[in-house]
Amino acid sequence: MPLVDEIAGFHPEMTAWRRELHSHPETAFEENWTAAFIADKLSAFGLPFESGIARTGIVATLKGRLGEGPAIGLRADMDALDITEMTNLPYRSTISGKMHACGHDGHMTMLLGAARHLAANPDFAGTVHFIFQPAEEMNGGGKVMVEEGLFERFPMERVFGLHNWPGQAFGSFSGKPGPMLASSDLFEITVKGRAAHAAMPHLGIDPVTVAGELIGALQTIASRTVDPLEAAVVSITQVHGGDAWNIIPDEVVLRGTVRTFQPAVRDAVEARVKAIATGVAGLHGATASVWYDRRYPPTVNTAAEVALALDAAGAAADQDHVIPDPASSMASEDFAYMLEKTPGAYLWLGSGPGPALHSSGYDFNDELLPLGASYWVRLVERLLAPTA
Ligand SMILES: [Zn+2]
Ligand SMILES: [Zn+2]
Repeated sequence: MPLVDEIAGFHPEMTAWRRELHSHPETAFEENWTAAFIADKLSAFGLPFESGIARTGIVATLKGRLGEGPAIGLRADMDALDITEMTNLPYRSTISGKMHACGHDGHMTMLLGAARHLAANPDFAGTVHFIFQPAEEMNGGGKVMVEEGLFERFPMERVFGLHNWPGQAFGSFSGKPGPMLASSDLFEITVKGRAAHAAMPHLGIDPVTVAGELIGALQTIASRTVDPLEAAVVSITQVHGGDAWNIIPDEVVLRGTVRTFQPAVRDAVEARVKAIATGVAGLHGATASVWYDRRYPPTVNTAAEVALALDAAGAAADQDHVIPDPASSMASEDFAYMLEKTPGAYLWLGSGPGPALHSSGYDFNDELLPLGASYWVRLVERLLAPTA
């Protein structure tokens, strides 16, 4: 593979950084040790940076030595998950109940590798902002960075993200224009009935049977409301109610998530969740209240930036390792908030067969480190080439 030679040379050091990060997983907005680790490395590279953006986020800025030019942002996520690691790796998590099970340890390391190389070889015209973003998994650190003025404090024309992707051919890059990942919404339905002795159900209103009917009815949204050629997922993930063998409870709470790609589908699904919940409950004399929270928007790439990113990927990995039209995923990603504000592209870096993201046996493959770092460097070379 046509890696950047100097980066290939510090592969062992990057591997050591990645494993150190892996053993210190920190979750949303608590990435303090992680931020200090990154700040320490950036200082060693001689890169100025600002910290404390979205609490634990960091942005480092490097100006090229070949003159003026555009500014771009390269983003890595920092947070870990509330998962107990089940590997026996010598560098496994040292923090109980927390784990880097999504490879963000690898993402930070690849961006640090690129920052190190570019700081020593700023052979470009323009500005690179290295964005280390907290709280990707659930709490929208990307949104908070945008709200705290990411694009005003560090003006940039384009922004790019990269995520490792198990199941995609090892060392391959994929991406496409339009939605790569879905929107993610949460909902909670509280079905209120009236408690009664379990042997005398006619004296109460049973929220359990209402909830059961509701779980089935909600599945008709994807199958009967949404155009079959559009994508939508409605998943009920929690059912809470009752604590006795012989008492019909007062209420049952259902919780779940909705995933869509298109704004109109998102609107339609939200409306149907509410209508079905109140309708089914009303049919049985119960009531339903619905809390519905729109979280991450879909992650939508812009066409020109995807082409530039895949071209850079082809220069880092060989052209036959570039997949230009991958299937989208119904997972979601808060890089979406940055793409809402600025043109850009989010690519997947294939990590081959192995445990899925968010599984307790997952580990980022260190063989990807020089490849991902080289991709960042090739992207900077292309986007910030001096004009003759
Ligand atoms: Zn994740
Ligand atoms: Zn992730």
